Amino acid sequence: SPELARAESLIASIPDYPQPGILFRDIMPLLADARALRATTAALIEPFAGSFDIVAGIEARGFILAGAAAIAAGVGFAPIRKAGKLPRPAAAVDYALEYGTATVEMHDDLPTGTRVLLIDDVLATGGTLAAGRQIVERLGYHVAGISVLFEIDGLGGREAIGDLHTVFHSA
Ligand code: 5GP
Repeated sequence: SPELARAESLIASIPDYPQPGILFRDIMPLLADARALRATTAALIEPFAGSFDIVAGIEARGFILAGAAAIAAGVGFAPIRKAGKLPRPAAAVDYALEYGTATVEMHDDLPTGTRVLLIDDVLATGGTLAAGRQIVERLGYHVAGISVLFEIDGLGGREAIGDLHTVFHSA
């Protein structure tokens, strides 16, 4: 749609951030634009209409889109956080980074079988979303779908995650 094409044009590409050789996709200009934020939020949830009970977002940029998507869909929001940030009983999953490892955590108090739509801003290697999916499943919830604003092609994310919906992807 023209609205989505316009939104895509607002994603900036920043060379050598945060390290030399990395082309960082900056979605902040898209988020700052009301029409683009509305259109992309709708596109993130559209294939999954009626099939999820809650939206989970991955810290930190995933929170922004997941919160918007939850309101647009009329459901609630659940955070998947970096280690040590959640106040109540939670599960943890470790995952590999380019250098070292990281941990995500999620509270364990949703009903078993809760249908979770998992949202993040950018898919690169897929490690983060794979950990997100794993933690949802470990807690006995159901992954209703995985939806990403921007997929970077060629880094293995598609292969790592398999079935996912992406609004935009790199050429
Ligand atoms: P992955 O785990 O798929 O390698 O990396 C995806 C995670 O790192 C996402 O949570 C995302 O926020 C962040 N990320 C990696 N590359 C980029 C990028 O170019 N732009 C943005 N905004 N986030 C990125």
